[in-house]
Amino acid sequence: MFAITLDQAMAALGYAVLTITVVLSVLALIMLVVTSISMRRGRFYLPRLLRPGLIILEGLAKILWRVSNLDDREIISFSIRLHNQLNRERFSKLAMEDRMVFLPQCLRSMDCPSNLSIEGLVCKRCMRCEIGRSIDELEGHGCKVSIVPGSTFLKRLVKKYRPKGIVGVGCLMEVKEGLEMTDRMDLPAMGVVTTKDGCVETAVDWPTLIEIATMRPEA
Ligand code: SF4
Repeated sequence: MFAITLDQAMAALGYAVLTITVVLSVLALIMLVVTSISMRRGRFYLPRLLRPGLIILEGLAKILWRVSNLDDREIISFSIRLHNQLNRERFSKLAMEDRMVFLPQCLRSMDCPSNLSIEGLVCKRCMRCEIGRSIDELEGHGCKVSIVPGSTFLKRLVKKYRPKGIVGVGCLMEVKEGLEMTDRMDLPAMGVVTTKDGCVETAVDWPTLIEIATMRPEA
């Protein structure tokens, strides 16, 4: 029998770590190249490689992206567009009644008279903000709409109503984290990023949101 010395064991461990590092670096490099080309051309190349790659190798890829001068916000925005692209087909096949739209409370007017209930905020259609004008349109299409103060509400309402697809509105980070959460729930979700950030009176492109929430499969 061969006896393995401590030196040999340490050398084997060293090779293993080196191999893993090289493999991860190569994968991150491939992702960097594919991501850069995709972002510059506004198209998604190898999306099925990019999504798991972005999650698994995010830390390493971020270092490489920084070295190549890509902005964090650009990366997050790209990741959201990629998620939407990958979820589009599954989401668009869902019946309107199976879709749920989650709006953040920061879209409301500062003088909003709505009350907080167990279902989220109940809009009184006072028309001080766009929610009042657009919520009926979305509900008219058959989607369920909730104005929620945070992800705890979202998770509870998803458990209660069991939608088959979700549209989530929020700032860049909220949408990114929301899409990661719905991925774990295996729910096709579409993220819509607010056009004005902040904690109060934010804004969203309502026609785009309505178009996404009510999308049908491409002919
Ligand atoms: S329209 Fe609805 S959400 Fe907007 S301020 Fe009035 S009650 Fe609040």
